[in-house]
Amino acid sequence: MSLLVVGSVAFDDIETPFGKSDKIVGGAGTYIALAASYFTEKLGIVSVVGDDFPKEMIDLMHQKNIETDGLQVKEGEKSFFWAGRYHNDMNSRDTLVTELNVLADFDPVVPESYKNCEFLMLGNLTPAVQMRVIEQLPNRPKMVVLDTMNFWMDIALDELKAVLKKVDVLTINDEEARQLSGEYSLVKAAKKIIEMGPRFLVIKKGEHGALLFNADKEVFFAPALPLEEVFDPTGAGDSFAGGFIGYLAHTKDISFDNMKRAIIFGSAMASFCVEKFGTEKLQNLSQQEVDERVQEFIDLVQFDISLVND
Ligand code: AMP
Repeated sequence: MSLLVVGSVAFDDIETPFGKSDKIVGGAGTYIALAASYFTEKLGIVSVVGDDFPKEMIDLMHQKNIETDGLQVKEGEKSFFWAGRYHNDMNSRDTLVTELNVLADFDPVVPESYKNCEFLMLGNLTPAVQMRVIEQLPNRPKMVVLDTMNFWMDIALDELKAVLKKVDVLTINDEEARQLSGEYSLVKAAKKIIEMGPRFLVIKKGEHGALLFNADKEVFFAPALPLEEVFDPTGAGDSFAGGFIGYLAHTKDISFDNMKRAIIFGSAMASFCVEKFGTEKLQNLSQQEVDERVQEFIDLVQFDISLVND
């Protein structure tokens, strides 16, 4: 197994200034796995759903070469449910409902065939569950990436800090970086967070792109693609994470230079995600569309320049 993805597989109810989705399939793990499936030949997901979760979605995962042996289906129980409403700028949102349901007492079981995964993506989920997955792996993967959110900082900060000591890369948004570090400056925040454990930190800034920091104080910035229409930002961060780790798992190169490329692939997958409600856009992309999108990023930031004093 090249890549193991852990994260919520869920129902979402999303409201944006452009419309309302009603109950649709979402979840951090779903977005990550779909986005990563464009890069890796073999990936497996560890998560839990109730018996209300649609079989068609599990079939779709199989079509995308996502193995679901680690996806537990709990009879008579309900899947995780999250509802959110976006503000007019589409960059910020309010969480209206978080019903943990099957996630409340989820005990992840990593199937034997996933235990030697080279890359591990710990998507947004209870930090204690993220830790239990790490503990089940006999060998440390080549790279462990963790995504989380303010919800877990509010209710499980100690568990989150414990799992941060075990990962290589943390991906969070700017508000969460400020909350976790207590620093307003993102540069100071990055320094403090890197001292907590991860060697790399990715700070996602929505439509303003993403920053990558390392322990040597190097920084890289990737813009977000200016899009004519942003329909639904839900899952953008997870799609970013999926593209990022998917590309790293595909290239097996974890140098800082290759991580910069991975940030661009992640940004490309996030740009697709927001163009439709939920996971719709991520379900049916061609490799050509992915390549063309990455080319748009290259064109966006490429320029010739000579320094005045050269
Ligand atoms: P993002 O927009 O990238 O932050 O991801 C949104 C997805 O995260 C939605 O599909 C939700 O189902 C999922 N989600 C929201 N809150 C949580 C939570 N507390 N734990 C795990 N997943 C969550």
